[in-house]
Amino acid sequence: MTAGSAGGDLINGKLLQPCDSDIGSWMAKAFDLAKDALENGEVPVGCLMVYNNEVLGKGRNEVNESKNATRHAEMAALDQVLDWCRAQQLDAAGVWEHMVVYVTVEPCVMCAAALRLLHVPLVVFGCKNERFGGCGSVLDISTADLPHTGTSFKCIRGHRAEEAVEMLKIFYKQENPNAPKPNVRKCEASPEGGSVVIQKQSPEEDGLKMATSD
Ligand SMILES: [Zn+2]
Repeated sequence: MTAGSAGGDLINGKLLQPCDSDIGSWMAKAFDLAKDALENGEVPVGCLMVYNNEVLGKGRNEVNESKNATRHAEMAALDQVLDWCRAQQLDAAGVWEHMVVYVTVEPCVMCAAALRLLHVPLVVFGCKNERFGGCGSVLDISTADLPHTGTSFKCIRGHRAEEAVEMLKIFYKQENPNAPKPNVRKCEASPEGGSVVIQKQSPEEDGLKMATSD
């Protein structure tokens, strides 16, 4: 990589790719956000959105706090960027085209699609997201040929990946306060008034049976 005056290469003729030391310092901030998420009972993912060497958006997962399953770190950061564009009365499209997104975990399918629709050119991430990843792990939203669906984007992967995985492991070892309670079976008791229930059969029968109680 050549280190130009602004620190790197052109991507799609538009973006100056960050050099390794820039990546290190922005990702350090993203990891701080992920740690904050972990300390607050959220899935530890942190995200920074950097435009012209300035942080326009930062976020960490806030799904439990907001009780909204879409409040991923990227979504929280993205909202801040849009607020900034409105405040500056700038056309957001021109800003997104030069944005670099730093996130500690591979964006999920939803977030990868959002970044693609916004025409973000570059995403730097830590570890893979084996269950939901949209940049190659489950689907490859980042580079797939998807007509009329934004612009494909480049990924730089693996920065401090082990650390990012370690934080996820710590989180998933804890009890999630908003996880559904196991073994709550509302249909088990005999209903009154002849209502219809669905009863689970014994494992050998392996099926469901409709039963009336009258
Ligand atoms: Zn996501």
